[in-house]
Amino acid sequence: MKRLINILTNVCRLLLAATFVLSGYVKAIDPLGTQYKIDDYVAAVGLSGTVSDWFTLFASVALSATEFALGVFLLFAIQRRLVSKLVLGFVGVMTLITVWIYIYSPVEDCGCFGDAIQLTNGETLAKNIVLLLAAVVVARWPLRMVRFVSKSNQWIVTNYTLLFIIVSSAWSLYTLPPFDFRPYHIGADLRKGMEIPPGAKQPQFETTFILSKDGETREFTLDNYPDSTWTFIDSKTVQTEAGYVPPIHDFSIVNVATGDDITQEVLNRKGYTFLLISPFLEQADDTNFGAIDQIYEYAKQYNVPMMCLTASGKAAIGRWQDLTGAEYPFYTTDATTLKTMIRSNPGLMLIKDGVVVNKWSHNALPKQERLNAPLGQLSIGKIDPTSVTARITKVVLWFALPLFLLTLADRLWTWTKWIRTQRKRSKLYNLLKIKRRKMRKKIVAGNWKMNLNLQEGLALAKEVNDALAADKPNCDVIICTPFIHLASVAGVLDSKLVGLGAENCADKEQGAYTGEVSAEMVKSTGAQYVILGHSERREYYNETPEILKEKVLLALKNGLKVIFCIGETLAEREANKQNEVVKAELEGSVFNLSAEEFANVIVAYEPIWAIGTGKTATAEQAEEIHAFIRSVIADKYGNEVAENTSILYGGSAKPSNAPELFAKPNIDGGLIGGAALKCADFKGIIDAWKK
Ligand code: PEP
Repeated sequence: MKRLINILTNVCRLLLAATFVLSGYVKAIDPLGTQYKIDDYVAAVGLSGTVSDWFTLFASVALSATEFALGVFLLFAIQRRLVSKLVLGFVGVMTLITVWIYIYSPVEDCGCFGDAIQLTNGETLAKNIVLLLAAVVVARWPLRMVRFVSKSNQWIVTNYTLLFIIVSSAWSLYTLPPFDFRPYHIGADLRKGMEIPPGAKQPQFETTFILSKDGETREFTLDNYPDSTWTFIDSKTVQTEAGYVPPIHDFSIVNVATGDDITQEVLNRKGYTFLLISPFLEQADDTNFGAIDQIYEYAKQYNVPMMCLTASGKAAIGRWQDLTGAEYPFYTTDATTLKTMIRSNPGLMLIKDGVVVNKWSHNALPKQERLNAPLGQLSIGKIDPTSVTARITKVVLWFALPLFLLTLADRLWTWTKWIRTQRKRSKLYNLLKIKRRKMRKKIVAGNWKMNLNLQEGLALAKEVNDALAADKPNCDVIICTPFIHLASVAGVLDSKLVGLGAENCADKEQGAYTGEVSAEMVKSTGAQYVILGHSERREYYNETPEILKEKVLLALKNGLKVIFCIGETLAEREANKQNEVVKAELEGSVFNLSAEEFANVIVAYEPIWAIGTGKTATAEQAEEIHAFIRSVIADKYGNEVAENTSILYGGSAKPSNAPELFAKPNIDGGLIGGAALKCADFKGIIDAWKK
């Protein structure tokens, strides 16, 4: 479910982002077109004339920049909570507007995608309902949006996006929109744009005639038009059915003085014509009239007709002529058509054989020095076939590529940072591990089992004691002897050098248990340790987990530290049950202890198949299970207790294999059987801690 929501949110976010980026961009690069659309809406609500042009132009730039920026922010998942709410609000308002235009049709085209994509009011409403649903999803789970750029670098995307879109708008306003989606774009054949394809549906009109006779006024149609005794008063014509409307349908050039329509003459003329276009000369920017006059001079020189098309009346034309010294002729064309032809007032269009060859804003007219040959020989007189590709490339290079590179660098940076942190963490972890390992005791304990008589035992204990006195060990050393040796051995050992332990103790405190030795008795000999749970005692003396539990409790109660043995048989190892076995042994006899009590337990892992057999577990095998034992202790008592618990390895340990075993991070020493019976071997193992 969580995965599904993630996918859904990100699909919705990308859909919204793509729509906002596209709609914002196409509007931003045509600020005047967007302003005209805003004017349409202003007129639709009856506010024409009350809102200044500057305000609607500002609204045009602000609206498109906001849309574009919200799209980019969604794409990069910037300020996810805030942006998702703003997008929801934005789409919500837009949906209400489209409901209104769907019902009342105050405008023909919503203008959502400028002139790039034209939608009917029904299509717009459907689109906005889909977007609204997507916006609800994104606003519901904003944090599910996956980030493409880390938080610390988001300001770069934010500022760059705002800068890019505002500069794009300003530049388009100064020059012309880089992409022209109107029927008067460069390369457009104006005559073709006016054609109605054969068989195309014609619009249907119905005319009603109002006539009167003898004081009676009635309406008639052509079908029931009355005789001449009726007097004509008025007529109304309404369109009853829509028909095919060609892309260019309102273009006409009319001679102001004569009223002659010269549209076809101009369009069918062979060769070039300059059309200076100004919807309203009274609002035209006259800053560059010098450059316009130079072009007129050039046009005259090379016999290229040049005319000004405007919707202004005689007075405005006269003012313009006085102001600029214009000598070119003036013709009348519909203002909306002129605004559609070029987004500049005034702007210059060059046509050849009725095809648009080039367009310029008055701010970017061809320089005089470039006008030094007939148009056919100049680049401005030719349609640039690469211009659209070049413009797309420019946008990609200026916007998409830097952000793509930023994203790439950011991801790389985040990734390397992550690696560095991981490394640092593992270094720190290793340091801690080493520190912790230093904190827990390194121990080598000997288990004499049922070997050596008292004299032999005393001699060995003395030899070990002397050897260690002469060469101080790097770990704790313990000798665990049969009961009868304990008191005497205690007498020959320096307790600071060598600890003393028993190999067993009773599971009863005291009383009529013939042959048993209690924990208290062990302690009274001077011993500090006791081995419990050795596999030989579990096997030969049927010591169950319950019995061992009692023994452990009594030993701890009497101040003895417990070396608690665990380990699996060969069959259990072969069945890969070693982990289960050792865990159960701990749980069965020592996991009832409190953490404080457990601090006095040393765990000895002794695979039964390795005890006294000459077969040693490999260092890797031992390390693996020691780590597992530590994790089991950590689960039970927490990491700190686990890290402080010494876990010894036992099973055919020798001076030759001890260094490799002891080098493992989770092996804290050994419980030594056979090799503890000879001082040199025992000392050899103890010395493994020095390597
Ligand atoms: C033991 O009995 O605890 C033991 C590890 O014996 P050995 O070292 O002889 O295998």
